[in-house]
Parts: sequence; structure tokens; C-alpha cells
Amino acid sequence: MDITLTKSQIQQAVQDAYNECKDIKGGANANYIPYLANIDSNLFGISVTLLDGTVINVGDTEYKFGIESVSKVLTAILVLKQYGAQAVLEKIGADATGLPFNSIFAILLENDHPSTPLVNAGAITACSMVAPKGDSWGKWEAIINNIASLCGSPAQVIDELYKSESETNFNNRSIAWLLKNYNRIYDDVDMSLDLYTRQCSVGITSHQLSVCAGTIANGGVNPVTKENVFERELAPKITTLISSVGFYQNTGDWMYTSGIPAKSGVGGGVLGVYPGVMGIAAFAPPLDGAGNSVKAQAAVKSVMKKLGLGVFNGDCVKVES
Ligand code: GLU
Repeated sequence: MDITLTKSQIQQAVQDAYNECKDIKGGANANYIPYLANIDSNLFGISVTLLDGTVINVGDTEYKFGIESVSKVLTAILVLKQYGAQAVLEKIGADATGLPFNSIFAILLENDHPSTPLVNAGAITACSMVAPKGDSWGKWEAIINNIASLCGSPAQVIDELYKSESETNFNNRSIAWLLKNYNRIYDDVDMSLDLYTRQCSVGITSHQLSVCAGTIANGGVNPVTKENVFERELAPKITTLISSVGFYQNTGDWMYTSGIPAKSGVGGGVLGVYPGVMGIAAFAPPLDGAGNSVKAQAAVKSVMKKLGLGVFNGDCVKVES
């Protein structure tokens, strides 16, 4: 079926989804990172970026929250750019773990393999791969500049969040050293873990995340700045990773009920990619038991439903400008 949407229909769907979801209760802020536990639980925003560069924002879309696990997508893109799809498959993998984001068990089960760059283990490995090898500052520059290019505007670390994470990341330290044991850390271990912790502590807005999602949906060209951030052939690779593990052990349920590949973070953000059509992001701090934002999930699902969209529906979707 052909579906033609107007911008005002999309604007209306985002506004209606916001109104419908804003009073949803349930869930709780992440409490294992003290900074996140203290964020205002009522913050809520939805952003959509269309491929002509139009950004639709409703709610708290300029609030800078912790990007957390959504950063895994952006650094996966960086290592895909630096090494290519085959090397990422060999050095990290592209398989779902079916287990929580911080699972140590998954590393043991997967035969020494970090599985995918979108869980903690694979993301720490990805940080170890970032070039230039051995140069902590150069690696960080590459990571933060890549975030700026994908999001269309610069982002900075939230110092208090970085401190909070660094002081409490004992599980991630275990993951990093276990991976080292299996020769899956390709640079200094402490440096790789620190880069991972720092990238998770970047402050980002739902507006910026939707532009990043729009860049992936647009085959690597940022729809707002028009910068060609990555090769088109990498877009389906990154969307595959997102659709297989974006919501950790709940990913299958998410894909089955939402119709859009999306990645969540414990800061409350969700980034969704509708290839060839739009990027969407939502943000609200309270999380469900798997670490996924309750309201942001509801908001993204609601927008998809109101627009009659689903990536597996087989429809040809056009947006009129
Ligand atoms: N920085 C968090 C951690 O490593 C990210 C987890 C997430 O967002 O899923 O635990």
C-alpha cells in the first residue's frame, strides 16, 4: 500500500501522542547511578526529524539528559566507519544476547564474544577499537565529534554524571577485565572503560537524538546539516543491530508491538529509526524492569500507531513537504 503523510499530520500525531502519554505513571528512575536517580521524573519530550530536515518537537525536547546506552549506537557507527562492517562482525559480533544490558553471563555464554556493540560488553570493546590507538584524547575527540556530526550540533559530558558513573561502575569494570581475558579489548583496558563511561555521560536532548535517528534513516546524510556522516551501505548494518538488541531482553516484544527499530538508554532516552522516512526520539526518566523508559516507549508506539506505520508492514511511505 502507498501511504502519503503530510507534515501537519505528523505534527498532530506527535502532539496527540504527547497528550496521551504525559500522565502515564509507572517505572522508576535508574537508581544504580546516583545522578540519574535525582532527575525530575516528570520530564517528557518527543522529537521527530524528517528527511528534508524538518524537526518536530513537543515537550521537554531541549533538556539535556544522560545519553547512556543510546551512545552505543553512535560509537558503533564510528567503528563501522573506521573498520568496516566485516571487521565489526569479527571483532565484536552482531547477535542479540537475550540478556540484560550489563550481563557478564552473556560474555561467558557467547563463547568469549561480546556479541554486539549495543550491550555494555560490546560497547566497551567498540571504545577499545576507536582510532587512534593508544591515544586517549584522540579517541575521545573522535567519539565526541562523531556524536556532533550525527546529531547536527555539539554535545558535552555532564561532569556530575560522569563522576557518578565512574564511582559506581564496578560491574562494567568486571566486564572490561573479563573481555581482556578473552583478548576482546583492543587497547588499554582502563582507557577503554573510561571512554565508555564518558560517552554514556554525554548530555543530549531528544531533539538531537531525533536528528541522529534521522541521519541513520537518511542513509548517513544528516538531514539538517546535509553532512555525509557515514557511507550509505552502513545504514542497514546499524539498523539491524538496533532492531536485534535495542531493548535488550525485551527487544522481540518491542519489535512485535511497535513496528520500529529503536534503542533505549537508562537516562530515559529512546531513539527510533524508520529507514527512508524519519527519525524519532523520546525522553522520560522512569524505566521499566529491563531499563527502558516507560513513557518514551509508549510515546514512540503511539506516534507509529497514529500514523499507521510499521517497518514490516510492506507499505511505501512518502512524506509530502
Ligand atoms: N552507563 C550505563 C551502564 O553502563 C548504560 C546502561 C544503559 O543505558 O543501558 O550501566
